[in-house]
Amino acid sequence: MALTSTPTDLPNSVWAATAPAPIDTQPLAGDVTADVVVVGAGYTGLSTALHLAPDVDTVVLEASEIGFGASGRNNGLAIPTLAKADPEEILRTFGPEKGEATIALIRDSANLVFNLIREHDMEKAGEQNGWIQPAHSPGRMKLVERRLQEWTSRGAKADLLSREALRDLIGSDAWHGGWIAHEGGTVHPMAYARGLAKAAVGKGARIHTRSPATALERVPEGWRIRTPDGSVTAERVVLATNAYSDDLWPRLRRTFVPVKTWQMATKPLSDNVRKSILPGRHALSDTRGDLQFARYDWEGRLVSGASLIFDINSEERLKSMVGARLQRNFPQIGEVEWDYVWSGFLAMTPDFLPRLHVLAPGVFSWLGCNGRGVALATAMGPVLAELARGGAPENAPLPIMEPREMPLHGLVTRFARSDLWRRRRLDAVEFGG
Ligand SMILES: Cc1cc2nc3c(=O)[nH]c(=O)nc-3n(C[C@H](O)[C@H](O)[C@H](O)COP(=O)(O)OP(=O)(O)OC[C@H]3O[C@@H](n4cnc5c(N)ncnc54)[C@H](O)[C@@H]3O)c2cc1C
Repeated sequence: MALTSTPTDLPNSVWAATAPAPIDTQPLAGDVTADVVVVGAGYTGLSTALHLAPDVDTVVLEASEIGFGASGRNNGLAIPTLAKADPEEILRTFGPEKGEATIALIRDSANLVFNLIREHDMEKAGEQNGWIQPAHSPGRMKLVERRLQEWTSRGAKADLLSREALRDLIGSDAWHGGWIAHEGGTVHPMAYARGLAKAAVGKGARIHTRSPATALERVPEGWRIRTPDGSVTAERVVLATNAYSDDLWPRLRRTFVPVKTWQMATKPLSDNVRKSILPGRHALSDTRGDLQFARYDWEGRLVSGASLIFDINSEERLKSMVGARLQRNFPQIGEVEWDYVWSGFLAMTPDFLPRLHVLAPGVFSWLGCNGRGVALATAMGPVLAELARGGAPENAPLPIMEPREMPLHGLVTRFARSDLWRRRRLDAVEFGG
């Protein structure tokens, strides 16, 4: 699957329709040199470029437009945790030293997002008013209590929410309680991507859109990356292509499964309804394997979504399925009407943990957000920037892993979405149904 070999337009998303205009960028024309070349202008590539500037001369190449990939399509929940692994599991897998460093990176990741938004005065880009994770079953409430303990004992600012406290905060009785991570929040995904790009360019980075990197070769000066109308020669390379990785580094895209997920935005809700559903405009995503989530955009649309196993008649099925879920969770919403439906790909790894790679001397990459990349991809920017400055890989907070190609990758990718059946069954069993 060549996801980016043909640059395409932005999807018809609420984010593309309502973001402040992007900075002016042009395709790369001619042969240039730089210290570092970054491939991909999503949060990873842009945060890397921003953290390299102004002292490291950096060129960013983007196949399509800024935020074309997951960064311009996501739900915008800035969450300072991983989707599955909690601190104790991270410690077991990464070991005590790297485990603690990774936990600290994740714990501080949403703060980094909102600090960047404030520091660079990014227009309409984010609100740090907390992420709420409600528990959909008594069993998951136990998980929430353990999760809260593991994160707060390591310095996260978070609180348990009783069923009553949760009801007051979100306007729903559909969940059993939950927790709130106060440092989380919501971003306008495209405004944030464009804000990062503007900040990086303001500090001296060069960004070329409509410039797919088509070949990467070793040269005496380091590496040369070719685009249709030019090339960049640089000592070091950061591949920030994540779920949208193509054949530029063929092994990379066989280390994860790109999973399609859908997003959709209602028509703006009335003032009255908005006063009773998520009145504090919190970010919300629950404990289900088949995740239920919602947040507002700036115009009062509720932005939610879902996954599907088959792409048949997708939009109509999504509208009725997600509409029914919203009505179940928030009966006061009334009839649900939709303004936008779009989709994107996220990168899933077999153990749901992120991967940091040194692919060759001077070539770095990370991937595997597993659905938690708004804050994490931003936080990987400084990590990749330090490597691209020549920092020792052993000092990185995450362990450097060999890129492990998945056996039967094509087959696994084709059937990845059927795992939704298993997750739905587990969700129902845990609910006691
Ligand atoms: C529908 C959806 C909802 C999500 N919701 C959330 C959420 O609410 N919270 C959360 O934390 N995470 C969420 N995520 C995950 C999050 O959006 C991603 O983890 C994050 O945006 C990844 O950023 P990135 O910069 O690493 O990759 P991307 O934003 O995907 O950027 C990769 C870029 O590389 C470019 N590229 C690829 N190949 C080439 C090439 N050869 N040459 C030049 N450019 C190339 C692509 O065009 C693309 O723009 C969601 C993801 C999706 C798809």
